[in-house]
Amino acid sequence: MTEPAREATLSLVDTFGRVATDLRVSLTDRCNLRCSYCMPAEGLDWIPGPELLTDDELGRLLEIAVCRLGVREVRFTGGEPLIRRGLVGIVARAAALTPRPKLSLTTNGIGLDRLAAPLADAGLDRVNVSLDTLDPEEFARITRRDRLPDVLRGLAAAEATGLRPVKVNAVLLRGVNDADPGRLLDWCLERGYELRFIEQMPLDPQHGWTRDQMITAAEILDRLSRSYELTPESSDLRGAAPAERWVVNGGPATVGIIASVTRPFCGDCDRVRLTADGQVRNCLFAREESDLRGPLRDGVDDAELALRWQIAVRGKRAGHGIDDPTFLQPSRPMSAIGG
Ligand code: SAM
Repeated sequence: MTEPAREATLSLVDTFGRVATDLRVSLTDRCNLRCSYCMPAEGLDWIPGPELLTDDELGRLLEIAVCRLGVREVRFTGGEPLIRRGLVGIVARAAALTPRPKLSLTTNGIGLDRLAAPLADAGLDRVNVSLDTLDPEEFARITRRDRLPDVLRGLAAAEATGLRPVKVNAVLLRGVNDADPGRLLDWCLERGYELRFIEQMPLDPQHGWTRDQMITAAEILDRLSRSYELTPESSDLRGAAPAERWVVNGGPATVGIIASVTRPFCGDCDRVRLTADGQVRNCLFAREESDLRGPLRDGVDDAELALRWQIAVRGKRAGHGIDDPTFLQPSRPMSAIGG
């Protein structure tokens, strides 16, 4: 069999028939914000430098994922991916792969005013920017940093550079920033940003998440429906996307809700994750990881790395199991997994 034909037969399929084509790559576990639901004020025990994948190691794994294993979409995340030195080069390398994957970035937006143009030139297609509130005091309370103007500048630069659609991700916290979700929606609608609310998930470092404190999708919908006419988008359009979307006031704008807890979408999940230290995670909530960095540094060939990656995905569970009485939160918090 010729090499390309052999490559074309491989895919990241699990025992339930789901095929992972969307790779979330964490570029660092470090962040310049300290969002209360994501990272403690003092930060975390960062992954030691020698354990992080180098740019070349990451480039090789991306090539295996895209060229051998059928990954079609790569999302760079973290931690905060904009603080990874070499980010522009990593994006350029991913953009040069065949078939060219779709490339996006999830970021808090700090520094994006400077980096949007070089990233677009390198081949980045679009960005998701996290923004939980427009109120500077609430922002500082949530993130423990006074950086709202930086985020807003980053968002404007992304839009001006054509990294569209610009998506805005917001987590609502009870008693903190949940009073007026319509304000954020209005602001996004005015600018053509696509807003998505994310239910808070049990991925906080303090392991303090409780279901009754979480603002649910139903609550968000109820709140927004008082001010907007919301029409559910056809489920045919959703595919494997985590966000359910509603057309706002007749459209064309939409608002999304990522209801991982109350309306899980595991049956359609097409995602697989690679941590900054080279571990494959077949689910955000997985408690097991599969090491690719060790074998890579031991000198195994691409075919062996691809096989290990396939085995890692094959073991994916049917669902994340948050509702199971036996559910245990993963030991790594969101920032170290890659959101
Ligand atoms: N630093 C980047 C950012 O701010 O977007 C990327 C990493 S951050 C972990 C990715 C997303 O995860 C952000 O939108 C953040 O709000 C969200 N997030 C973090 N912890 C979460 C949690 N416990 N539940 C739900 N979303 C969470």
